[in-house]
Amino acid sequence: MYDLIVIGSGPGGYVCAIRAAQLGLKVACVEGRETLGGTCLNVGCIPSKALLHASHMLHETHENFEKMGLMGAKVKVDWAKMQGYKSDVVGANTKGVEFLFKKNKIDWIKGWASIEAAGKVKVGDTVHETKNIVIASGSVPSALKGVEVDNDAGVIVDSTGALALPKIPKSMVVIGAGVIGLELGSVYARLGAQVTVVEYLDVITPGMDGEVQKQFQKILTKQGLKFVMGAAVKSAEVAGGKAKVSYALKKDDSEHVLDADCVLVATGRRATVDGLGLDKLGIEMTDRGFVKIDKHWSTNVKGIYAIGDCVPGPMLAHKAEDEGVAAAEVIAGKHGHVNYDVIPGVVYTTPEVASVGLTEEAAKEGGRKIKVGKFPFMGNGRAKAMMQADGFVKLIADAETDRILGGHIVGPNAGEMIHEICVAMEFGASAEDLALTCHAHPTTSEAVREAAMACGDGAIHV
Ligand code: FAD
Repeated sequence: MYDLIVIGSGPGGYVCAIRAAQLGLKVACVEGRETLGGTCLNVGCIPSKALLHASHMLHETHENFEKMGLMGAKVKVDWAKMQGYKSDVVGANTKGVEFLFKKNKIDWIKGWASIEAAGKVKVGDTVHETKNIVIASGSVPSALKGVEVDNDAGVIVDSTGALALPKIPKSMVVIGAGVIGLELGSVYARLGAQVTVVEYLDVITPGMDGEVQKQFQKILTKQGLKFVMGAAVKSAEVAGGKAKVSYALKKDDSEHVLDADCVLVATGRRATVDGLGLDKLGIEMTDRGFVKIDKHWSTNVKGIYAIGDCVPGPMLAHKAEDEGVAAAEVIAGKHGHVNYDVIPGVVYTTPEVASVGLTEEAAKEGGRKIKVGKFPFMGNGRAKAMMQADGFVKLIADAETDRILGGHIVGPNAGEMIHEICVAMEFGASAEDLALTCHAHPTTSEAVREAAMACGDGAIHV
């Protein structure tokens, strides 16, 4: 008899299993995939960042090396080798989780699980008994009507297929200007593809701060990506190894066709609970197909919890991890906690885009009186030395109390710098607290401090 069986070994599931084991519980984790680590390690965060890193390095050699006096023959891409590097990075990470399971004495039950009843998890022909179950079954790409994905053929693909294309396409249409579409679109643009992003809305990265969206789109356009905004994709067809994407512009219903070697469908992800038998158990779902949970990550069936991408909230690995830790703590009789107001979101393009807390629009819609402090990277010496001075830091603070409510960054190292703002928000800091904190020079983080100063008497370097 286990104390806990976790279903799914993504960042939600494996972190939950480890924390529960650390707290003295007897734990097993069921995973249907060949390797541990879920979407994130196998076909998500990690392989995409490997390709982003490699293509960024290539872009630097082509765009900036000569400007810095680094001369020589132009670097060429060996696609098979780059894929090999990506697979090695994935392998090292998934093996790392396997090692952590052994270290923490967590049983890895291989196979696809279904839940027979509270306390009973079936894998193959065996029913495993457990006091608690955590569903951490994650998500899969959503389908788009009229567009059939075939990752093996490599012409119309989803994010999984786009991470392992047979060759670098000369042209690519990305359907959806969200984080995944823009990251992978950037990869192929840097590798030489002509990338056109077709988006239904009038803005990219929906939900982000409006000024960030505009600046980010401008930068990506400068890098060669094309955008068709306000466009509803009707269909995508394959003929002779190439694709035709048909779309209608919302403003006048005019119909258009784009030809491409490859189409990436990146229109979002849906929770996956297929085959778990949740219907039979009477587990309540939201109307958008997520597992319904209470404040303690419990479903409506006692002893069954759910975390990560299969429950509502941002579909992010670190959100899943935090919920994994918190649910394990609740199951072990402690107090789990996740601060949903301080979950950063990062787009790992160059420059990076990072965001936490309230956007200016959301603050105003909520009727909050705010002040906004902005600082452009043009005024930051380090960013200029790195030839990445496009972009800015924007801080949102309460107009009366000066408490930091949100931070938004487009610029070099944004994905690292955002954590200074996260920590400040966790501690309930004011913009003045940040402005009074000495920051090392020359660092890109100085721009965060200057944005905080701009919430008060003014930044220095503008
Ligand atoms: P998952 O990682 O999806 O893991 C669920 C696991 O459960 C899977 O391995 C699945 O096989 C297993 N499973 C499902 N059902 C069963 C069953 N019945 N029996 C046994 N096993 C089962 N997030 C970030 O924060 N940063 C990023 O940079 C980032 N980049 C991304 C890039 C891409 C291309 C993609 C697709 C996603 C990215 N994400 C990123 C999102 C991130 O991958 C997810 O938010 C995260 O993986 C969710 O973790 P999870 O544990 O909830 O589920």
